[in-house]
Amino acid sequence: MTKNAEFDVLIEGAGPAGLACAIALADTNLKIGIIEKGVFPRDKTCGDALSLDITNQLKQLSPRLAENFYASSKTGIVKGVYVCAPNNESFTVDLIQHGKPLDMHISKRIDFDYLLYQEAKQNQNVTFFEGEKATAVEKDNDNLTISNKNYNWKGKIVIGAGGAHSLVAKRLAGQKMNKNLHAAGLRVYYENVHFDEKTAHHLEFYFFDDVIPGYLWVFPLGEGKANVGLGISSKKVSKEKLNIKEILNNAIEKHPVLKEKFKNAKALETIKGHGLPLGSKKISISGDRYILVGDAASLIDPMSGEGIANAIRSGRYAADQIKKAFDKNDFSASFMKQYDKRINKLVLPELRASRLMQYLFIRKNKMNRIVNKEKRTGNIQEFVNIALNDPKNLNNTYYFKMIMSLLF
Ligand SMILES: Cc1cc2nc3c(=O)[nH]c(=O)nc-3n(C[C@H](O)[C@H](O)[C@H](O)COP(=O)(O)OP(=O)(O)OC[C@H]3O[C@@H](n4cnc5c(N)ncnc54)[C@H](O)[C@@H]3O)c2cc1C
Repeated sequence: MTKNAEFDVLIEGAGPAGLACAIALADTNLKIGIIEKGVFPRDKTCGDALSLDITNQLKQLSPRLAENFYASSKTGIVKGVYVCAPNNESFTVDLIQHGKPLDMHISKRIDFDYLLYQEAKQNQNVTFFEGEKATAVEKDNDNLTISNKNYNWKGKIVIGAGGAHSLVAKRLAGQKMNKNLHAAGLRVYYENVHFDEKTAHHLEFYFFDDVIPGYLWVFPLGEGKANVGLGISSKKVSKEKLNIKEILNNAIEKHPVLKEKFKNAKALETIKGHGLPLGSKKISISGDRYILVGDAASLIDPMSGEGIANAIRSGRYAADQIKKAFDKNDFSASFMKQYDKRINKLVLPELRASRLMQYLFIRKNKMNRIVNKEKRTGNIQEFVNIALNDPKNLNNTYYFKMIMSLLF
């Protein structure tokens, strides 16, 4: 028999975006229902790299959550990046600030998302429905109803946080995949991967013909384990009819640097795939009684493929909008547009800048030239050192010189 449940706020999906929204609502009395098709602790196909902004976001979300994150033994520190160009030349950049690594981490999503989940569970007003996949969404006057064969969940407001395949984004916002702003991603965990001692905590990026302007990554998880994967533009995949699993396996077997690195390595799972809806274009991400967050709102950085920080950020912003909507008893599409405006003002410019950078720099000949030059001059390392340790010395002239030196 189908069960009925009613909530003030219904959240589709317990990824970083949906969970952040629930956590940010902990200071309200709102009744929150979270529908999640997985059962925690659950995996998510990802590179597991947590950018600098993520720790900022966690601190703003909940000091206790940030403390638990730092205390977790399952979190590794990032000390720099290694870049290998299509000509197989490479350079490394250390990310050291005042003698210490930056606040950047690597954490398997099965662990990271579980931390967020545990924090969200602290709120008595939150009810989780795990192992329940939402299959339909309907609108009536005062509610939205999400349902499947087991449940009808009613909510005064719905948060579409189902990620790249969000049902709410498709059904309520009418979203369709935009191949120009979409990437195909793969991930596979490996063990016995060889890391040089000096770069054992560096994120490794490999650029070559089949993947560019995307890349293949090897992110260290400690003790010779690694998260290995690639992200390629979906347009390129369909235009060139690419078999991306084959590209990944071939690179590991044949790429002159990777084949040495993986000589004794063993895959710990079959290759997993997932889509990346990339940001930079203004799209509608709210409407009558609903808000889209995270991947459902296409907020992934188009160059790096990072989306966790923006997922958490948008979850926080959605929570602010929900509080205002309940305060004013206004759930109309026009009122919800305040959320779109905030995202457009505070998130979109960064995504656009990133797309421009990708267009300017992530090309075969440019990458080859940048890597050759960096090996000779160390300009990028110098720039990073100043940016991290002495930012007042960075002025427009310096930026201009830096960009020119990379381009020409
Ligand atoms: C291969 C790959 C590598 C990546 N690497 C990185 C990286 O290193 N760093 C980074 O910052 N970002 C990375 N990203 C992007 C990052 O994974 C996403 O931006 C982030 O997970 C978005 O969070 P979210 O909460 O919006 O969605 P998700 O994390 O996808 O969470 C959505 C949740 O909704 C649930 N769900 C979906 N549909 C339904 C339904 N119908 N009913 C019930 N539940 C549902 C899912 O089970 C899931 O738990 C990568 C993405 C891919 C694909």
